Amino acid sequence: MEKKEQLYEGKAKKVFATEDAACCIVSYKDDATAFNGEKRGTIAGKGVVNNRMTNLMMQLLEKQGVPTHFVEELSERDTVVKKVSIVPLEVIIRNVSAGSFAKRYGVEEGIVFDEPTIEFSYKNDALGDPLINSYHALALKLASKEEIETIKKYAFKVNEVLKEYFLQLGVKLIDFKLEFGRLADGTIVLADEISPDTCRFWDAKTNEKLDKDRFRRDMGGVEAAYQEIFKRVTEAK
Ligand code: UDP
Repeated sequence: MEKKEQLYEGKAKKVFATEDAACCIVSYKDDATAFNGEKRGTIAGKGVVNNRMTNLMMQLLEKQGVPTHFVEELSERDTVVKKVSIVPLEVIIRNVSAGSFAKRYGVEEGIVFDEPTIEFSYKNDALGDPLINSYHALALKLASKEEIETIKKYAFKVNEVLKEYFLQLGVKLIDFKLEFGRLADGTIVLADEISPDTCRFWDAKTNEKLDKDRFRRDMGGVEAAYQEIFKRVTEAK
C-alpha cells in the first residue's frame, strides 16, 4: 500500500490517504510537544520506537480480544491502519498516582491504587483538553451511552493486559492515555498509539522514568529512555 495525499498532520504523526478508502497510513515523526503544545522539541528515533512499539501492543491486544485499528506495519515509521472517526475523548487509566492526578488532588507521585481509575478528557486543543465525566460527554453528544460502556470495558482490559506484560519486562505501568475510533459501520476500535509518549513507565526496581516525562521535565536521557523501553519490548517478543 502506498501513501497518497496527506489528510492530516498532528503533533507527532502525519496521516495519509491510500488507494483503499477504508485505510490510512500513519507516519510517526520525532517531533515532541508537551503542555498542550507550549513545549516543543525533537526526540531522535522516537518515531521509530513509537511506531513499532504501538504495533506490537496493538497485536498483543487484538489477541486478547480488544479490537484495534492496526492493519500492517510498512516500515520503521509507517503503518497501515483502518480509517476511523476518532471519538473526541482521551481515556486515561491510572494504576499509580502521577502527573496531573497528583497535582490536581495534592498528593505525591507513586501512590499505588487498590483499583485502577478511569477518567476522560474532552479532546479539544482550544479548550486545553478539559477533564470531563461521562454524563458531560453524553450531553455534548461526544459518544453514546453504549459506546462509553464499550470504551470503559476495553480500556480496563487494555490495562490488565499491558500491566501484566510490562511487569514481566521489569516495568511498572503507572498510567496511560487511549483513544478510540468508530469504523464506517460504527464498531468501536482502539486507535492512536501506545508508546512512551502516551504511557508512564517506571523501572520496577529503581523507579527510573522510561517515558516522555523525561522530556516534559527536562530530566535528560530522553532518547536513552525511549531506547531502553523499546529494547525490553523487542527482546521480549
Ligand atoms: N497523556 C497523553 N496525552 C495527553 C495527556 C496525557 O498521552 O494529552 C498520557 C500521559 O503520558 C500519561 C497519562 O496520559 O501517561 C496521564 O497523564 P496526566 O493526566 O497525568 O497528564 P500530564 O501530567 O501528562 O499532563
